[in-house]
Amino acid sequence: MSAGLPWDGEVDVAIVGGGACGIMTALRAAERDDLVIAVFEKSTREGCNAAISSGSLGAGGTRFQRAVGIDDSPQRYADDILRASGDEEWRPVVEALCAVAPALVEWVADSGYPIELGTDMPRAGMSVPRLHTDVGRQGGGRLMRHLHGLLDQRPGVVFVDEAPVVGLVSEPDRSAAGCRVVGVEVAQNGAVQRIRATHVVLASDGFAAHSALTEEHLAHLGQPFYGGVATSTGDALAWATGLGAQLRNMGAGLRSGLVVVDRGTRVSPALPFNGAVLVNTAGERFVDEESKGYSGMAGVLQQQPGERAAMIWDDTAMAATRESEMMRETLASGGVRDLATPEELASALSLDVEATGRALTPMPGRRQLMAPYHLAWVTHGLLTTQGGLVIDPAGHVLDSHAAPIAGLYAGGGTACGLAGPTSDGYLSGNGLLSALGMGWIIGTSLGS
Ligand SMILES: Cc1cc2nc3c(=O)[nH]c(=O)nc-3n(C[C@H](O)[C@H](O)[C@H](O)COP(=O)(O)OP(=O)(O)OC[C@H]3O[C@@H](n4cnc5c(N)ncnc54)[C@H](O)[C@@H]3O)c2cc1C
Repeated sequence: MSAGLPWDGEVDVAIVGGGACGIMTALRAAERDDLVIAVFEKSTREGCNAAISSGSLGAGGTRFQRAVGIDDSPQRYADDILRASGDEEWRPVVEALCAVAPALVEWVADSGYPIELGTDMPRAGMSVPRLHTDVGRQGGGRLMRHLHGLLDQRPGVVFVDEAPVVGLVSEPDRSAAGCRVVGVEVAQNGAVQRIRATHVVLASDGFAAHSALTEEHLAHLGQPFYGGVATSTGDALAWATGLGAQLRNMGAGLRSGLVVVDRGTRVSPALPFNGAVLVNTAGERFVDEESKGYSGMAGVLQQQPGERAAMIWDDTAMAATRESEMMRETLASGGVRDLATPEELASALSLDVEATGRALTPMPGRRQLMAPYHLAWVTHGLLTTQGGLVIDPAGHVLDSHAAPIAGLYAGGGTACGLAGPTSDGYLSGNGLLSALGMGWIIGTSLGS
């Protein structure tokens, strides 16, 4: 849409999407109190992925780690992410995000949010404990309520709910290669308004809820359970590519191999590190349970008979993992069976007791599970997409010549993520690091 028509309003910063990236962008930009900032949100009733996430914040080199003697750094974190993803070309963006992560986590803590280091949250590919979580483990809903509360106290920010952005407004830009984004079109109460903006930030997440886009880019995932929100329809991708922006790693997603069959809840990713085993419907162990992150494990489960397997653990593993929002939800949903004896476990697996005993044989150096047992049938799910717009380390959206499209930024799930070309490269914490981290970077540059 061209800029020649009249405007219905004007702001300095228009943010598309009021989830993790959008709210953090607004909070940081609002440090400059002369800026007028508008966050246009499609629907807080339908929600954002950040609010249903576990709210685990990855950061390397925080005071929380130092307090318990953990030697970590942004560089070590970036190297772990890149080892998992293999996506060296994306190193500048990864390093920029890891560089701001400690300040971001400490800022959230200093704003009154109760944060602790998840020393009991081991994850494949993470060389030291670096997931930070809320004390009480309530998850991302609590985090987003807290950030919304902070935003309410900023006088220069308006949060406009039930107001989906439906397009960008641009004009030719002689100083740059192509065009300049100068505003957004917002649908509200049955009418479309044109809001002029000096800076437009795309923070509307990925496309996992858009069936045609997932069919185009993620058909290899089969028919996974979808565990994300309905608002992730990739709206911003078409507007930005229409202006010459590039897409990258569109075949990657944040998957989960821990989705409980017929419940849609998840079991804790820490279970395998506490001795839990996976047994398929043929009674076979088929993977080293500690070897893969939950996103990579989804692909392994997809290959099993019936695309499912039994996750089996015992009281020791239960005690180490039950205080998390996902285990509480799974237990409340009735998705876990308690089995007092090897015979009961064998019956639940439709195996004889000898075959069940063989299936429980621990891998070298691991613990033997002891009765009573707990069992949940798990399958694979898609939580969010990880491919998206090509950006530079400052969040500018780039065109095919790697030149910034003037006035246009992107972060979180709208931008290319940190998993690399496939879902196997997703490391726990990548999603919120991309979203809050790029919101922090973009917002800080606009607000200073
Ligand atoms: C079940 C689950 C668990 C997860 N756990 C974790 C975790 O523990 N740690 C982690 O790092 N990551 C986790 N993630 C991933 C993480 O939640 C996402 O990567 C992150 O929320 C992306 O942030 P975002 O700001 O891009 O998108 P969101 O937080 O989803 O916010 C996007 C917002 O944009 C709005 N929107 C969409 N289109 C428009 C439009 N056209 N106009 C206006 N508004 C629009 C949406 O309504 C939404 O409010 C999890 C995801 C899921 C689904």
